[in-house]
Amino acid sequence: MKTAVAELAVLGGPPAFAEPLHVGRPNVGDREAILTGIGEALDERWLSNNGSKLEAFERRLSERLGGMHVVATCNATLGLQIAMRALGIQGEVVLPALTFVATAHAVAWEGLTPVFADVEPETLCLGATEAETRIGPETGALLGVHLWGRSGDVEGLSALARERGLPLLFDAAHTLGCERDGRPLAAFGDAAVLSFHATKIANSFEGGAIVTGDRELAERAATMRNFGFVDEDEIVGLGTNAKLSEAGAAMGLASLEAMDGFLAASRRNYAAYGEALAGIPGLTLLPFDPPESSNCHYVVVDVDADAGLDRDQLRAVLVAENVLARRYFYPGCHRVPPYDRRPQLPLPVTEHVLARCLSLPTGTAVTPADAAAVGDLIRLALYQPDAVCGALGE
Ligand SMILES: *Cc1c(COP(=O)(O)O)cnc(C)c1O
Repeated sequence: MKTAVAELAVLGGPPAFAEPLHVGRPNVGDREAILTGIGEALDERWLSNNGSKLEAFERRLSERLGGMHVVATCNATLGLQIAMRALGIQGEVVLPALTFVATAHAVAWEGLTPVFADVEPETLCLGATEAETRIGPETGALLGVHLWGRSGDVEGLSALARERGLPLLFDAAHTLGCERDGRPLAAFGDAAVLSFHATKIANSFEGGAIVTGDRELAERAATMRNFGFVDEDEIVGLGTNAKLSEAGAAMGLASLEAMDGFLAASRRNYAAYGEALAGIPGLTLLPFDPPESSNCHYVVVDVDADAGLDRDQLRAVLVAENVLARRYFYPGCHRVPPYDRRPQLPLPVTEHVLARCLSLPTGTAVTPADAAAVGDLIRLALYQPDAVCGALGE
């Protein structure tokens, strides 16, 4: 063991990290490329509405996604809303409660009713078995979530959707750089929505993208993104404003150019965490589908009762050390307003995950040495649970 027990901050030592390590610190591509791109938009005096940066961003993203149609949006939440509208979804939408609240809010904001299903214990994603239990006469669509970039049961959900004649949409916010059987994860379903929010593996400051193999669906979505305009003064229906700015698109483009470096950094950190956390009783680093087909952008540990400290105690120790671990996506969509006021069916796997999982810092702002040091801290804290609990006042 590298560090002495007395060095834990909760036991009176200084914090292990002088500067905080954050979860979701933005990955930033080549600064020159970003500033040049924004400068070109200024020179062109074209700041939004299908400028050269947006076109280039959509083209590059489409290439990355094997030629899928891509409609970039100002964020993924509006991307999800537009995708649901363009698919003509009505009534209830079956989705997992184990997701960021945006997934449920997008459904509800469209006047649809979110119906929460449990996730599969193996994949932590919505599976066909769980989804089927929530399908009723009012069901209008299935909305899967590729939690932490995991593919889940895409085949089962696709078969179920086909059998029941329901559209299948995926919240693919976490999936850029993830593949399933050599195919980009965002290519599954009738449509999928990526996020380019600052905390995601690649960002456009704020941003999102609707991804689909259906050209007409993409055209409807692109029209809805711009107030329903199809021409200079022709409006064909209800639309909103969900356009991505040229500055955002320039940032997104630079992020796509830098993706190899972002992927390498997160995969290296994931491997370093794996080594540092190996063999700790009660602590499991969540495995990915083959790591080489995952972006490894979320490093999540499951803290079992046997670990000595519970998840929240471990988090308190890490925060004292300036390791700002997060409880993604606690407390779960079903436990926050307005959804908590509705009767809910039990979600045992979801509750289990929400009570035990902790996301650790990674990304290009974190080095493998940092990850190894965080692993050592976790080992140290769990090695002295009584002392730590005393210091935490428990
Ligand atoms: C980040 C995120 C969103 C929302 O993305 P925005 O681009 O911020 O709107 C939706 N779903 C999940 C699972 C997310 O993590």
